[in-house]
Amino acid sequence: MAKYNLRKSGTTNQLHIFKTKQSNKGGCIDEALVSVCSEVNINDTNGILLPCLSEEEIITECAKIESKVCSNCISYLNG
Ligand SMILES: [Zn+2]
Repeated sequence: MAKYNLRKSGTTNQLHIFKTKQSNKGGCIDEALVSVCSEVNINDTNGILLPCLSEEEIITECAKIESKVCSNCISYLNG
């Protein structure tokens, strides 16, 4: 099942969504080096705000803080 991290851009402070995959030990491992909107490299982020969320969870969380989250990332999830 797909899992996602919500990460903060180090340059704009905007939040972007990154795909991860669940490891056997229960944590999540980064799967993609760019955000789902393709705009932000993982090396340009400075920390994970919300780790290892399911698609349903990240849609719910992003809806609460919509103004801070990249609209293209949200579109990707709802697309
Ligand atoms: Zn984005």
